[in-house]
Amino acid sequence: MKAEKRESPNLDLKVWCDRCSIRIAPSEERAMVGNKAYHAQCYAKLVPAHSKPKT
Ligand SMILES: [Zn+2]
Repeated sequence: MKAEKRESPNLDLKVWCDRCSIRIAPSEERAMVGNKAYHAQCYAKLVPAHSKPKT
């Protein structure tokens, strides 16, 4: 067995923002919601700060 396992290769797959449809660069901050991805900025706009979900 080879032990050359890459760490989390799925994180480096190409991801598009579900809000603005622009590709999210691997170095960019992203927010994952279910199986959708958003730019951190887009997600912040998507979820207004005043409507925090109750936990
Ligand atoms: Zn976006």
